[in-house]
Order: sequence, then C-alpha cells, then structure tokens
Amino acid sequence: MRIATEVVNLIPTKSGRVQLVCHICGRISGSRDTARFSDIPNGWSMAPYPAESVRPDGSIGSLYTCPTCCDRRDFPIMTRAYMRDTAG
Ligand SMILES: [Zn+2]
Repeated sequence: MRIATEVVNLIPTKSGRVQLVCHICGRISGSRDTARFSDIPNGWSMAPYPAESVRPDGSIGSLYTCPTCCDRRDFPIMTRAYMRDTAG
C-alpha cells in the first residue's frame, strides 16, 4: 500500500487520471478517471468541498476516506497523522 508523502487529497497521474488520498491515513487509491462521487472506489467515502476551498492543513477541495478509516472507531481520529513527526 502506498502512502502519500505530502498533504494532498488528489494526485494526478501522468495519463490524466487521478488517485485519491485518504485524509486520515494517507493511503493512495488506484487511479480513477475522475474524482467525482460516482467514480470513487468501492468502500471509499467522499466529503465534497468546492475545488477552491483550502483547509488549515493546506490541502484543497474534497476530502476522501479509505475503507479502513471508514471503519475506524479509535476516536478521536487524527487526520493526516502520517504527516506528523513522531520522533519527538
Ligand atoms: Zn485511510
């Protein structure tokens, strides 16, 4: 499983498709034709936001959640925890 290395919600592919990034664990989906609701992978969920909306973490647009994180019950869930420095 690939994990994102930057704070993004979508990764464009060279072939013009997109990959979704889970905003909780950073898991990257397989490539899709679009990031629309009707085209997200099975088990993923989407919180739609305008493409121009910018979140405090710097990411833009809609949020995506992978199937594993949709099932998590370890509240409170830290979003983008994979980007945090855990050394300190
Ligand atoms: Zn996830």
